[in-house]
Amino acid sequence: MQSFAYTGLQGRVLFGPGSIDKVADEIRLLSCERALVLSTLQQAGLAEDLAGRLGDLSVGTFTGAAMHTPVDVTEAALQVVRQRRADCTVAVGGGSTTGLGKAIALRANLAQIVVPTTYAGSEATPILGETADGVKRTRRTLKVLPQVIVYDVDLTLTLPVSLSVTSGLNAIAHAVEALYSPEANPIISLLAKDGVAALARALPGIVDDGSDREARSDALYGAWLCGVCLGSVGMSLHHKLCHVLGGTFNLPHAETHAVVLPHAVAYNEPAARGALQQVATLLNAPTAADALFNLAQQLGAPTKLKELGMPLDGIETATALAVASPYPNPRPLDREGIRNLLDDAYHGRRPGRGTGYH
Ligand code: NAD
Repeated sequence: MQSFAYTGLQGRVLFGPGSIDKVADEIRLLSCERALVLSTLQQAGLAEDLAGRLGDLSVGTFTGAAMHTPVDVTEAALQVVRQRRADCTVAVGGGSTTGLGKAIALRANLAQIVVPTTYAGSEATPILGETADGVKRTRRTLKVLPQVIVYDVDLTLTLPVSLSVTSGLNAIAHAVEALYSPEANPIISLLAKDGVAALARALPGIVDDGSDREARSDALYGAWLCGVCLGSVGMSLHHKLCHVLGGTFNLPHAETHAVVLPHAVAYNEPAARGALQQVATLLNAPTAADALFNLAQQLGAPTKLKELGMPLDGIETATALAVASPYPNPRPLDREGIRNLLDDAYHGRRPGRGTGYH
């Protein structure tokens, strides 16, 4: 056994169908009594329904959460927090809504309950990415770590199948990079492997039948484990590339993760064989990159950056940005290798072919 350091993140997790009914008790357990329910506009009905169920424990809703946590939205929400004297937030939705709850907690020190409805995993992390003047800045602070997560499978049944697939692959990416993180440790690696296995088992079932509650439940469980991985150890090349691509070309978050993952893994496979062999074995393929590419294809996920709106000349720009300030990575970043990787991802080629990694 190699030396390692492990820091457990604090947080209470309630998991199970119908657990949304326990939010009121959780507000009381936090010694709070004035919850502001947060959501996107698309999920306003869900937020209003929850606020209604909370009765006197809720001071209403704010339904303006948006992708990449724009600071002007946070400021508008903070005004509502002050006007209504909210003492906690309940974020019901995906990573965008969770991000708003975190941004409020950072500034107003409010306790957070998160009710996730996607597989993004943000609810389990002390990480906040915010956008101001078109620039996204990410920080890591325990001030934004939610106190309570309530996983209720019933709220995920409406997640469109295509978004379920990309969101699930986004979650798998957290676990895969945790396995070769410089901070990898046996506890997080256990969670990573179980997270990948749960999602790889669940997603084909969701593609077959989006209302399959057992598959949905497995996926939500996997998403939690993968979120803990993201929150606990540093991420590498894959997350760096997605950050660059999302920030520079405004590409959709989960879809970008889905496309890039097999390619980032192909790049790292020669330098992280032990870690990635575990993924290959779990997914029953000769290499992790092949396994992840096959899985994405099987699930009907997008496989080409060009179809997500990336311009062809963006390959050069993204290469330069990724190489200029890399995250720690098992294989050093070389410009040609990263350009080839992005070229493969842009065109949707099988990862690593023609680039000399295999
Ligand atoms: P999202 O939260 O932006 O949701 C996408 C859309 O789907 C929204 O319109 C949302 O309202 C809708 N939706 C969500 N759940 C639904 C459901 N069950 N039924 C119907 N519609 C539903 O997407 P996401 O991928 O969950 O989150 C992406 C954002 O989260 C990005 O900004 C990303 O940077 C951030 N994120 C942050 C972390 C972190 O640790 N800080 C981790 C992962 C993602």
